[in-house]
Formats: sequence, structure tokens, C-alpha cells
Amino acid sequence: MAAYTPMVQQYLTIKAEYQDAFLFFRLGDFYEMFFDDAIKASQELEITLTSRDGGSADRIPMCGIPHHSAANYIDILVERGYKVAICEQTEDPKQAKGVVRREVVQLITPGTKMDGKGLNEKENNFIATVTDFEDGTFGFAYTDLSTGENKVTLIEGSFDEVLNEFAILGANEVVMASDFPEDWKKKLQERGAKAISLEDYTEQTEQFTSLLCDLKQEKQKLAVTRLFNYLYRTQKRSLDHLQSVQAYETSQYMKIDYYSKRNLELTETIRSTGKKGSLLWLLDETKTAMGGRLLKQWIDRPLINQKQIERRQHIVETLKNQYFERQDLRERFKEVYDLERLAGRVAFGNVNARDLMQLKRSLQQLPIIREIVRSLGDSPEISTLAERLDPCEEVTDLLEMSIVENPPLSIKEGNIIQDSYNAELDMYRDASRNGKTWIANLEREERERTGIKSLKIGYNRVFGYYIEVTRANLHLLEEGRYERKQTLTNAERFITPELKEKEALILQAEEKIIGLEYELFLHIREQVKEYIPRLQALAKAVSELDVLQCFATISEERHYVKPVFSNDRTIQLKEGRHPVVEKVLQAQEYVPNDCYMNGERELLLITGPNMSGKSTYMRQVALTAILAQIGCFVSASEAVLPIFDKVFTRIGAADDLISGQSTFMVEMLEARNAIMNATENSLILFDEIGRGTSTYDGMALAQAIIEYIHEKIGAKTLFSTHYHELTVLAEELPRLQNIHVSAIEQNGNVVFLHKIKEGAADKSYGIHVAKLADLPQPLIDRASEILSQLESEGSQTAVVKEAPSVVMEADIAQLSFFGEETAQLEKKEPSTKEKKVLEQLQQLEIL
Ligand code: ADP
Repeated sequence: MAAYTPMVQQYLTIKAEYQDAFLFFRLGDFYEMFFDDAIKASQELEITLTSRDGGSADRIPMCGIPHHSAANYIDILVERGYKVAICEQTEDPKQAKGVVRREVVQLITPGTKMDGKGLNEKENNFIATVTDFEDGTFGFAYTDLSTGENKVTLIEGSFDEVLNEFAILGANEVVMASDFPEDWKKKLQERGAKAISLEDYTEQTEQFTSLLCDLKQEKQKLAVTRLFNYLYRTQKRSLDHLQSVQAYETSQYMKIDYYSKRNLELTETIRSTGKKGSLLWLLDETKTAMGGRLLKQWIDRPLINQKQIERRQHIVETLKNQYFERQDLRERFKEVYDLERLAGRVAFGNVNARDLMQLKRSLQQLPIIREIVRSLGDSPEISTLAERLDPCEEVTDLLEMSIVENPPLSIKEGNIIQDSYNAELDMYRDASRNGKTWIANLEREERERTGIKSLKIGYNRVFGYYIEVTRANLHLLEEGRYERKQTLTNAERFITPELKEKEALILQAEEKIIGLEYELFLHIREQVKEYIPRLQALAKAVSELDVLQCFATISEERHYVKPVFSNDRTIQLKEGRHPVVEKVLQAQEYVPNDCYMNGERELLLITGPNMSGKSTYMRQVALTAILAQIGCFVSASEAVLPIFDKVFTRIGAADDLISGQSTFMVEMLEARNAIMNATENSLILFDEIGRGTSTYDGMALAQAIIEYIHEKIGAKTLFSTHYHELTVLAEELPRLQNIHVSAIEQNGNVVFLHKIKEGAADKSYGIHVAKLADLPQPLIDRASEILSQLESEGSQTAVVKEAPSVVMEADIAQLSFFGEETAQLEKKEPSTKEKKVLEQLQQLEIL
């Protein structure tokens, strides 16, 4: 190290503390990176790699970016999961003895980003923390630094539960102790953690003790402390906007595991990570950024408390019935900016005058918004909400008085503060304005005195004020009165002593004005800071109202109905629709379907050809339950629903490909998850379970699962299957009911009616399809013959003992006719029994 120059030594000392970050080392107008950082950054950012002499034998790799365009580069790196440590010069280079002092002033990480690209206004940017306590519980806490929201929960059970909570939250970064198990870290990364950060300091510090006062348990406090220590250590500044930490229990909400959420496409679709096509996409009629974020949170956590749900329903209904008031609210909301994030930036100290103007305009809407809400009715729900819409008049008054209507971006160049807000400022402004008037008068006088009409007084930075006279008129000037300053091609510029005197006064005043305006602005910002908690409470109320008006708007536009909750576990949906498919298909084409389930009808076994609408129907039931439990109306013409405690799904195979586990293993894991955790108040959707293995295995497992749920759990279950044999189970299991999706043949084409009907699907369906596929008629006839033979042999008992699998082969043909998904089924090595059947088939003589 000694061989390096002092500056490089300084660099290396600082870099040692920020091993896992790019160190942006301020050198004059640039941020420079050295050594490995430089090599990596030059690749990531596509900037030129150079080198410099650092005192040692070898030159040091280096690359740099101008500090004024650093934000873009930081965005790129952080977006890719890197951290960036900003190292500034913290003393005036002119006064420095030796190397200028430098310090890291902020560490920017994927979970602590406050603004810029990649921070979607309708999404939270959470940073989470996990602590594994010795007694086996996990502390899980999270913060959104941009909004100041904090939550903590204790999770008892396996690490999978933590992973689940983490994945649902969608946090970008997770903080943990340095001895946290490596394989857990890896799992967190698989579930979307872009950055893993370590923090071992778990002592509470004074800065945030007051935020923990609502927490009853020591473990909750410990969990949050780790996170806060990390935040204060890396952000190195006031975090006054952090809200007091709220504890929550995962059992307060409907439980839906991460995979089920993905399968049901609640906030993103399975195929892409985009919002389009998801329930969130369908519902998002929010008008404010805060409302958009809350909507996603509500969808992620449906309620299970009937009172809370009905409170939302009541307001939704009220708003739905009052069209004009609702429209008015929506118009007003357009003027309301992101109060939550504004409050965060006020605390962080990076708001400018334009931001405060936005705050003012937003707050000016509030008295009107509150009036509209009051006019909706006088129920306790409405009144409480109106009360919470606190317009924070003090802030509005302050900003109306102090800041001009169209302030500049910069807070250091004046033109921010209004006249008559501050006497001293007014005085300087008078001086400056008077001086300018004096100069304007002087111009007129000089024209009169000299008779030169084109004479003018101008200003530039180098020479200050000057009198300009064109060359042709020079002879008209009085000798000795003017001092020549600058010669241009066609004109000469002069000054006079009295002009210089006034100039000094004006410039002095202007300098004072700029300094004073800056000070006043900082003071105003400090005053606004005092109101952060009130602004945050207001932001919460506004975002709730926004989501509720969004529900009302959707419910009206899409003809949704208010669900009624049953306490005897009855489902009664009339003309139900899959909300998203309905929107995509346009209402006319969508075929509504009823769904009835109760104590005598707990399991529905759904048969029907591929593409007929089985999975859509099952999802429809789950989405309807979720809509109901977030407080929205539902896509049906009549709806009675129980309150579900948990929803489990096993649908589709999109995720299986990524995780590397076999489809069948994933299927079984998810089935196990449902079976172990479901209660009689849960909803289970099983789509084609058992198809990932050989026919016999699959069918046997499917049957056993159905029986188990029927006997031991009693959860409301929708089970779709292509194992036609399972339909006979209805004879033995009293609470199982067969239903099917109908399809008809029309002019040689299969037409899907998408209509759910009672009873099992037509068994010879596979043969129909084979016929449509233009297999030779004799073969079709022969197949029908075998089928009826098999049926008469009584092989339709689902407990398969001997070779009834010709029907299954027909099923396979049917499946592959419709989809590629089943290609894997055919490729599988046939089981011995299947081989036997295949041989039998091959030996068939076709006449
Ligand atoms: P399955 O699960 O039986 O293979 P899907 O539920 O995937 O079938 O439905 C296949 C397609 O049929 C869907 O993409 C949708 O476009 C259409 N569909 C499903 N149900 C309906 C319905 N009730 N009305 C109109 N179209 C529907």
C-alpha cells in the first residue's frame, strides 16, 4: 500500500469498508472508479476504461462519469442489483492540507432507492429483513424507505413460510446477520431478492427507539432493529419520515401461498412479470400513485374479518350509487400528488420548491374532497373516513404565503419566495428593483441628452452594466463623460461612475436575495417536516378512499354485485364470470356459469375436453372469493360466499420449468401443502392433478387425494380431471358432485359451449375427437366397440385393478389433439401395464 500515492491510499481505505458496492469516488467534477470496480463498471455501463499512475509500478485501471449525470448510471447499476457508495469531498479543496478529506455520504441499494428510474410510482420498493431466533421462530420486518411504512411479524414454522411472505411482498433487498445460513440466502435470491445485505449490529439506538413503542414483543423489536441499524448506517441522514412500526400476523389475512398467487395471476401473469392480464390490471382504476400501491397491497392480503370487509363494502356501495360525486372525486384525485413519497423526500432533505408547490396543490384539493365525502352520507364509516381526510391547512397556508406559483428547479438561484413573506427579502428586492428602475430612467435620460435614439443600456457578466452606442453615433457623445470599456464591430460600450455605483448596489442586493431565499426555503422545508406524521396519516386516508372509489367504479362498469357472506359455508354464484377473461373476451362472448356448493356438495369433480373452460371456471370461483374478501363487488349477478381462510391451487405448469423440479414432484409438493394446511373453511383448486406421472399412478393418487379431502378435510374443492374413471366416485362419496363443461359437434367441428352442467362428461368424447381428427372410420367403429365391451365388463370402477386403459389411451389421444402440453405424457416410457395395452392395440386388426 505504501507504494501508492496518498489519494489512492485514501481510496483503498474507504473501499475496504464497502467491498460489496461500487465506490463512486469524487474527484473534482467526476466520480472515478479504480481497480476491479473500474473494470466491472466499464463493462456494465459501457464506458471507457483508462488507467492512471497511482504511485506503484503498474498503472491503475480507472473509469469515470461526470457527477452531473451520475444519477442515470446509479439507476442502471442499482436496477441490476448492485450497490453504489457515494464518496464526496467533505472539505474545500482550497483549504485542504494534503489529500482532500472524503467520506461516503450514502449507500444506494436496490431496497433503499428513493427516486429515479426503476422506481415505479404505483409500486412499493420494500427492503426486508429476516432473523432466525434460537427458539425456531423467524422475525420478518420490512420498510419502504420512500414512503416510511414499516411492518413486522413473527413467523412460527418452516423457513418456507418466510420465503412465502418475502415473495408476496416482492422486496428487492433483504438484510440479515452475517451467519445467516447460505442455502436460505440462496432461496431468498431465487424468490427475487436482488441484493443480500448483512447487518450484525442489533442494539437499539436513540434515533429510532420511539418508532418501536407499539411493539409488545422483544423479538419484534430485535427484528426491526437490525433493519433500522442498516438503514441509518447506509443512508447517513435524517429518516424522520419513518413511521412507527406496526406488528401484523399473517393469520389476519386470507392465506394464499406465493405459487397460488402466481397461478391465479393476481398481480402479474404467469407468462410475463407484467401487470397486464392480471387481476390488479383489471381492477386498477385508482387515480393516485398512493392508491395504486395500496390496491396491490390489498390484493396481496385479502381480509378474513367480516366487519372489516363490510366496512369497505359499505363505502364502495355508497360510492357506486353516487355517480357524480364519484366522478368529482376522481377528477380531484388527478391533482393529488404522491403525498407519501413527498413526505419521505421532505425528511430526506431532497425536495425542491416545485415539489412543495405540488404538495400545496394537492392539499388545496383536500377541503373539497372532504366535502364530497361528507355529502355521500352520514353513516359511521363515511364520517370516520371524512374525519381522517385532514387537509393540513397550516401547511397549505404556509406554502400559499411563501412560495411563488412557478418556482425554478434549482433552490440556489432565487425566484422562489413570494413578496411580502419576509421583510428583509422585500428590502433587498426593493433595492434591486429600484436600481433597475433607475437604470431604465438613465437610459431614457441619456437618449434625450445625446439625441441618440438607438442608445441602450445592457448587462453582461464580465463587464456588468454598460451604455452601448453604435459607431455612426459616437460623435454625438459628450467628451470626457463616458469611459470606454469594450469595442464591438459596429458599436462601442461605455460606463460612467454613477452607473457603476448603482450596479454595485444592485449586484449586492441580488447576492443577498439569493442567499436569503435559499435560507428561507430551507426553513420552510423544516417547517413542513414537522407535519410529516400528519401528511402520512392523510396519505393513508386518501389512498384508501382512492382504492374504494376504484372498486366502486369497476363494480359499476362491469356490473358486479355485492356479495353476501354465509356462515354455513355455502357458495351460491349466479351467472358468475372470470373477471379478467370476461374483460379480455368482451362481455358478449363470455358464457356465465353458476356455482353451487354447500355442506352436501363440498367437492366438484369437473370433466370435459381440453380447452372447454374447466380451468377458467375453477379460477373464477377463487377470484370471486378474493374480490369479495378485499371488499370489492364480484363478477356475478348474485353472490353468496363463505369467508375463506385459505386458498390453495394446483394449476398449470409454467413455474415447474423454472424450478428444475419435475412437474410431478411440484404437483405432489403443492398437493401436500394444500392437504396439510387446508381447513374446512378453505378453498382448494386442483387442475388435472396426477397427469405428470403414468396413467395408473396418476389416477390412483388423484382418487386418494379426493377421498382424503372428502373424509378428512371438508374444504371446498374443485377438481378437474381427464381421468374419466374418477367420475364413479360420486356414487361412494356423498359430498362429491360431478359436473362437466359441455361441448357439441357442429358441422364436423367441436364447438365449446363453455357451459357448466351437472353430471359427468360424455365418456366417448375421445372417440368423437378422434373422428374429427379424420382417423379411418373402421378404426373409429372398432374403438367404439372396445369401449362398450370394456364398459360392460364393469371396469369403470375407479379403483383400477386390471387393464381398462384403452379408454385412457383414447383420453391421451384427445388431449394431444388439443394441446402440446401433453406431449410429455406421450413421450414418457409406458408402464408395463400400458405396454401390454399398447401391444393389444397394435394387434388389433382393422377391417
Ligand atoms: P380447460 O381448462 O378446460 O383446458 P380453459 O379454462 O383453459 O380450458 O379455457 C380455454 C379457453 O376457453 C379460455 O382461454 C377462454 O378463452 C375460453 N373460455 C373458457 N371459459 C369460457 C367462458 N365461460 N366463456 C367464454 N369463453 C371461455
